[in-house]
Amino acid sequence: MNTDVLICGAGAAGLTLAIDLARRHIPFVLIDQAETPFAGSRGKGIQPRTLEIFEALDVADRMIAAGGYYPAQRHYAADGSYRDEASIAANAATPAEPYGQPLMLPQHLTEGILRARLAELGHAPRYGHALTGFEQSDCAVTARVTSAAGEIVVRARYLIGADGGRSLVRKTLAIDFPGESLNARAVVADLSLSGLTRDVWHRWGSGSKQISLCPLQGTELFQLQMPIPLDGAFDLSDAGLAAVIAERTGRPDIQVHAVHWRSDYAMSARLAERYRVGRVLLAGDAAHVHPPTGGQGLNTSVQDAWNLGWKLAAVLHGADDALLDTYEAERRAIAAEMLGMSTQLLDAARQRGDLRRGREQQQLDLGYPDSSLSLDERNDDAPLRAGYRAPDAPCVGAGGQPLRLFSLLKSGDWIMLRYEPDANVTPSIAPRRSLRIVTVGQHAELRDQENHLRTAYAFTPGDIALLRPDGYLAALSHDEHSPVLKEYIDRLVR
Ligand SMILES: Cc1cc2nc3c(=O)[nH]c(=O)nc-3n(C[C@H](O)[C@H](O)[C@H](O)COP(=O)(O)OP(=O)(O)OC[C@H]3O[C@@H](n4cnc5c(N)ncnc54)[C@H](O)[C@@H]3O)c2cc1C
Repeated sequence: MNTDVLICGAGAAGLTLAIDLARRHIPFVLIDQAETPFAGSRGKGIQPRTLEIFEALDVADRMIAAGGYYPAQRHYAADGSYRDEASIAANAATPAEPYGQPLMLPQHLTEGILRARLAELGHAPRYGHALTGFEQSDCAVTARVTSAAGEIVVRARYLIGADGGRSLVRKTLAIDFPGESLNARAVVADLSLSGLTRDVWHRWGSGSKQISLCPLQGTELFQLQMPIPLDGAFDLSDAGLAAVIAERTGRPDIQVHAVHWRSDYAMSARLAERYRVGRVLLAGDAAHVHPPTGGQGLNTSVQDAWNLGWKLAAVLHGADDALLDTYEAERRAIAAEMLGMSTQLLDAARQRGDLRRGREQQQLDLGYPDSSLSLDERNDDAPLRAGYRAPDAPCVGAGGQPLRLFSLLKSGDWIMLRYEPDANVTPSIAPRRSLRIVTVGQHAELRDQENHLRTAYAFTPGDIALLRPDGYLAALSHDEHSPVLKEYIDRLVR
């Protein structure tokens, strides 16, 4: 079997990449060794930046409709009294940031919505297909995949290892995975139970006796989380979990009716030395693992795939293969920061027995200003720089219809904004595939009626902002005839 891209692993990273490639009409095959989709709640927090990406992939509204927001935490004292505390920073939406707070949606529902979107685009993961090995040459990767029907050989131009923390792809490439074991082990389980309200996230105890039961939005279930001893077997049976809930909460009125999914895991923080070897790249947990405290894993995995999708498509359409090197340069630095932050939050959770997430966890301030792809020609002290996340802005189309800048990103194209150019200036960049040139002005196709664009982008008349297909600012310039800008576009836009 021949294809352009073989994606190994249909978790959040693999599914996101598959949707992006499907909408770009890039041939790919998506495999997963599991016989059926993952069924647990695990990564239940979708951060505002990921919601923006899911909006571009046309799934954000479905996810918001299927899930809900985080409730306050209720901390119980030994005598049964309690105090409530907000755990998650929640802001009102602003013109530049349309999603002010994280969404809670159990991971299996998130992945189900991603699979539905993929089906709409004419694709599906092949479950029961395990990658068992591969070799690569200068022009292709030859992969062996086993399924109930026997072994299939897949020849692909690129292989993406989105195969989770124990990644066979990473191990086959002999990529080091340095880091540390965090001396923490925990249980996570999805339960139906009675005796608790669903309006707060219930927490008891401290240190090794902590336990929390969080109402899982979009379901009738609660997610149990608790630390357990590092060594030895832990009783994960229905009766075993019911007994430990009774012991740690001191609440005989909490009755467990069924355990729908359960897992125990040891926490570590590790980062792959490299994200790329030749025609093989790693994405998601295959490249980084860390404690779940910051609610970052699924989000970072989705954003890896989002960074990679358009670059793969551009290279397959003729852009220089070196564009793929910027994937590691941009995403590995982000993961390194995130590992440190999640580990600090784990330490705080161990000490205080609670969970606090703020602006830093929302991933809206992440960007790539130091990337070789970031071209800043404005050289002024405007707060927005090339490489930053491109802000949203409510505008009006020439016909008077309201339109958000982010709606343009759904095309998957680069967007070049010409802000109030002199009427006598003709565009210097010729139309081409994957580039949308949008003129903003009082008599132009896009109107900045409330000055949201001007404010967010610090535009002055004649300015250019070039947005990457993943919604980061590629270039900012006062001069649309800049030869450097033209060379940039000629080299990268495919
Ligand atoms: C308790 C807990 C809470 C969490 N909370 C959050 C949270 O609030 N927010 C958040 O962002 N993240 C959270 N996470 C982390 C999140 O679940 C992971 O980061 C996320 O699942 C990573 O997605 P992925 O696609 O990279 O990998 P995975 O989801 O691990 O998917 C990898 C896939 O690859 C397949 N695979 C593996 N090997 C092969 C092979 N050889 N051939 C074919 N297929 C293969 C597997 O079957 C699997 O389906 C949490 C995790 C835990 C444990």
